Amino acid sequence: MKIDVLGVAFDDLTMDEAVARGLALARGDGFAYAVTPNPELVMMAQKDPDYAGALAGAGLTLADGVGVIYAAKLLGRPLKGRVPGVDFAGRLMEAMAREGLSLFLLGAKPGVAERAAENLRAKYPGLTICGIHDGYFQDPEPVAEAVRESGAEVVFVCLGAPKQERWMAQYGPRSGAHLAIGLGGSLDVFAGTVKRAPEGWQKLGLEWLYRLLKEPRRVGRMAKLPLFLCQAAWARIRGK
Ligand code: UDP
Repeated sequence: MKIDVLGVAFDDLTMDEAVARGLALARGDGFAYAVTPNPELVMMAQKDPDYAGALAGAGLTLADGVGVIYAAKLLGRPLKGRVPGVDFAGRLMEAMAREGLSLFLLGAKPGVAERAAENLRAKYPGLTICGIHDGYFQDPEPVAEAVRESGAEVVFVCLGAPKQERWMAQYGPRSGAHLAIGLGGSLDVFAGTVKRAPEGWQKLGLEWLYRLLKEPRRVGRMAKLPLFLCQAAWARIRGK
């Protein structure tokens, strides 16, 4: 089931259900991509129809941020729970290692994906990482070709928004992969260059605050959250 949160249709799934869907797509014959929009990206889609189209074309739309969960509650149609992209990716890699599905890492600054690959191979024994490319390229076409040549079933696309969603919508089908997932700064986390909030903060839904304290330059981006929640409350009052 899909739940509309201020213009973006989210899949109403628990983490287990999301991983099962992701795996089914990865094993399938076609191509689909997954997006993990937070409030900032939902608001970007409201202003940019092109970007909204890239989000709408996703086969799987996961509620990454606690802000989306609060907004869904305010709208009177709560989602089952948060499915942070980085955790979803972790669970998927566990299953991929078991099933022999291969992975391509795309994105981040040169050298980061290599370090991430080293850590991920150690963490998920048996995981096949069959290709790597940094995220600072001019021409997207050869990158899709590199994924195709690698034979990867799954590609993590970590280019930040809106670049990653646009790449997946436009070049994903040519990559030969079955599933592409837009995962923002996840390669930095897997490489260990960016630390995630301690578990206690994550459980309290305060990962955003931890990130803000570590990277104060994000304050402008995060200041949109109260506005987002007001939009949800207002939509509820107007009965939308
Ligand atoms: N990035 C990239 N190519 C670009 C711009 C950004 O590969 O042209 C990478 C950047 O190095 C970082 C990620 O995309 O690893 C975006 O991280 P950010 O924390 O902004 O994304 P978020 O997780 O907030 O969506």
